[in-house]
Order: sequence, then C-alpha cells, then structure tokens
Amino acid sequence: MNQDTICALATANGIGAIGIIRVSGNQSIEIVNKVFQGKNLEKADSHTVHYGFIVDDEIQDSRIEIRNSENFNQQPTLNNPIDEVMVSVFRAPKTFTTENSVEISFHGSPHIAKKILEVLIKNGARMAKAGEFTMRAFLNGRIDLSQAESIADLIASENEASRKVALNQLKGGITNEISILRGDLLNFTSLIELELDFAEEDVEFADRTALKTLLKKTEEKLRSLIDSFQYGNAIKNGVDVAIIGKPNAGKSTLLNALLKEERAIVSDIAGTTRDTIEEVLHIKGTAFRFIDTAGIRETTDLIEEIGVKKAKEKIESAKILLYLYDETDSTPQEVINFIKEFYREDLKIILLHNKIDLQNGYFENEFDNALKSALFPDYTTQIIGISAKNKTGIEALKSELSEYIQNLETQENTIITNQRHYEALQRSLESVKKVEDAISGNISTELLAYELRYALEYLGEISGEFTNDEVLGNIFSKFCIGK
Ligand code: GDP
Repeated sequence: MNQDTICALATANGIGAIGIIRVSGNQSIEIVNKVFQGKNLEKADSHTVHYGFIVDDEIQDSRIEIRNSENFNQQPTLNNPIDEVMVSVFRAPKTFTTENSVEISFHGSPHIAKKILEVLIKNGARMAKAGEFTMRAFLNGRIDLSQAESIADLIASENEASRKVALNQLKGGITNEISILRGDLLNFTSLIELELDFAEEDVEFADRTALKTLLKKTEEKLRSLIDSFQYGNAIKNGVDVAIIGKPNAGKSTLLNALLKEERAIVSDIAGTTRDTIEEVLHIKGTAFRFIDTAGIRETTDLIEEIGVKKAKEKIESAKILLYLYDETDSTPQEVINFIKEFYREDLKIILLHNKIDLQNGYFENEFDNALKSALFPDYTTQIIGISAKNKTGIEALKSELSEYIQNLETQENTIITNQRHYEALQRSLESVKKVEDAISGNISTELLAYELRYALEYLGEISGEFTNDEVLGNIFSKFCIGK
C-alpha cells in the first residue's frame, strides 16, 4: 500500500467552466480538510459532495471543532480564500485507486488550479506522476494491466470504433479471454509438475492426447486474437494511405477533393508538392491518413530528391496505395513498372485514372486494358476512373477504402488494439507451438513443464500478472498527469 498522498489536476489544463483536482492516498481527506472551509470532511460519509472554500491558511483544530459543532453558522472569517468549490469525498476501498480520495471542483482557471495544488502540497500532498492514479488502481488490484491501458485508450479515442473496443477492454474483455486460456493450461501444468514429483514411478497424470487437443484449441484462439490486431490497429491508429503519381497527375487536387478543402497546394508547376502533407479523413468511423507525396520519378532536383525518398518510405508503411495517372502524360508501361516495384501482399493498390473529364468521363480504354492484361490477376489491384478536379468518382473511391476495413473485421468479440498485447500473444503462440513439438518429440517431462510455464507467463504479461518495473514505467509514463 502506497503511503504518499498524491494530487493533480484531472481536467485539461486550460480555461473551463469547472476544473477538477484529484487527491488520493490515506491522508487525502485529512489534508483537504485542513484547507477546506466548510463542513468537517473527516466526518463526511463516503461518496458525498460538500460546498465550501479552499483557503490558503491551514485551518486550526479549534476552527474544525466549530465547523463540527451545532453552531455551524458561526464560521470563522475566511483567511485567504482561493476559490469557492465543491468537494467530493470517497472513502477506501470503493474508489478508483482503492485509497481514500477527494475531488475538488473549482472554477476552471489554470491559475486557481495552481494555487489549490500549491496549498495541498504545503499541507502534505505531493504532485502525482504521469498515470500514477491508474498505476495505484492497478497495484492495489482494482484493475488489471490491460484495463489500465484501456483507460488511456478511452481518453485517446477519437471515433466510435476505438471507443467501443477500449470500453470492451476496460470491462475486462481481453482479461476474460486470457484467463480462460490460462486456466486450462494451468491445470495441465500442475498435472505435469505433479508427474515430476513422482518421477521415479514413471506415472502419467496428464493425458497427453487431451493436452494436445487443448494446445490446438489454444493455438487457434491465439491466432484469432493475433489476427484481430490488424483490424484493431486500424481502428485505433488509423490506416495510412499513400497518394502517389507523377508530378501533375493530380495528387493534391485529389487530396483536396477528398477533404473538401483547399489544404494541399495545387499548382501547374511539376514538383510543387515538395514535402509530404498528412491529412486525416474519417470514413465510417475509421481514420484514413492521406499522405500526399512528391511524384516518384527520376529527378535531378535535390529538394525533390528528398521528397521522392520520403515517398518510398511512406509506401513502405502504408496499407493502401492510391496510384494516380494522367494518361496524356504517362504510358501503361510506366504504371506497370511502378506497381511491380512496389507490390506487396499486404498493400491494397488502387489505380486511379485521373482527369477523365478530359475524355468525357470515358476510361477503361486501351491504356487501361494494357494495364489490366499486364497486371491481372497476379497483382491484385483495380482501376477507378476519377476526375479529381470535378470530384467525380470520389464516392466510389471512398467506398473502396471503407471496404478495406470491412474485410479486416473479424468474428472475434475481443479485438487486440495494443502492440504490447499483440507481442505477448505472439510469444505465447510461439511457446504453445514449442509445447506441441515437445509432446510430439517425446521430450522429457521437465522440458515440457518448462515450456508450459513460459506459455503461461507470456499470457500473464497481458493482464500484468507477470510484469516488471520497466514495463510498468513504460506504460504509465505515457498517461497524462492526473490520470
Ligand atoms: P500533383 O502534382 O500530382 O499534386 O498535381 P496537382 O493536383 O497539383 O494538379 C496538377 C494540375 O492538374 C492542376 O492544374 C490541376 O488543376 C489539374 N488537374 C488535377 N486533376 C484534374 C482533373 O481531374 N481534371 C483536369 N482537367 N485537371 C486536373
């Protein structure tokens, strides 16, 4: 149990109607009481709210007695009142941190927040570190590690899909899945370890065939959770889309058409989009991050060179590639070479035949037929005719993008969105596979027990059953102060 009493601003640091300072620790009620002019908080019931003032002078015991007496109206005059506040008292253990906690709601000025924090610190509290409230909730056993992480995800959620996934995790979604897997494996591990105790007698408590069946089931479940990460990651972090094409193909115009605002600079001079521009478009709750890049081509211009290099890097990290071409300024072979060079199985490539307004909306002509015969069916891609300038074909493009997400959706109720969980699941899968190999290879019971322990440990990392200070520090330092 942590003895320090910590305090921090829990609301955003800026002007607001109300700001909230959170105080947690054994002494929190006592400390706030010392600077609170109003009811004696030490006598207050849990989960109650009290009106009063935070004052800059410590309130002496005699005054507390007056507050506590029948003659509550005879309040002593206030010394240095800082603000009129509402104070909520939460008594252990039914609090966020499981410790005594107080929340002070004040008029939302950063200056007032600073003054109140100062007076709390003067009276024995200390400033909380980033994520320290949530870390206490975890260390005191109120939530597990994946739930703590989901709180950060909830705060960061920017759309419906990521909010829902984070909330499911907070409600224990992944914890439940993992504890079922661990529970089954643990039973077997205990039996195998029992065998070790009776090594001399050559007995087999753990039915190897049943263990194999369980391992297969576990493996399937792990794979399915691991697979859900692609979707989870897309809804949490968005999908990177690279817009590529020769200079003047219409990349900036397309970006503007997608975003409906004149953000990227459009010009007739080849190579004006020097650097990359990133813009986000939400389609059905998923963030698509568009990266408008300098055209990929041979260049002697040094500044352009940097842009071209960046474009290549961006394609590497992108999940979707929009390749724009203007048939009057390109050849099918150029497009074909490009696609062949950048093709990856996990990259969705959409060819955009731009400026179809110049052909009376007509596309899929010889140019496109040449592309199709050279690229299909080995290089999965499709062609959409658009006019970035007239905003034709933009809806077709958007539905193609949202289809990308639909294809990733999984039957899993629990979706992995967290890189750390993803990695722990992969390690678990590796060790489950090793256990399987071990059984088939008739290895010693000792080694089997050893591999099983590893599998259990990796699974336990997700909920924080097995963890270390470095991992914890890493997770909680990313939280904001006050959370
Ligand atoms: P970027 O270099 O690929 O970013 O190309 P821009 O977006 O700057 O466009 C280059 C030129 O092509 C500009 O003059 C645009 O107005 C023009 N342009 C872009 N899209 C279209 C289109 O669909 N139709 C026509 N007619 N012109 C377009």
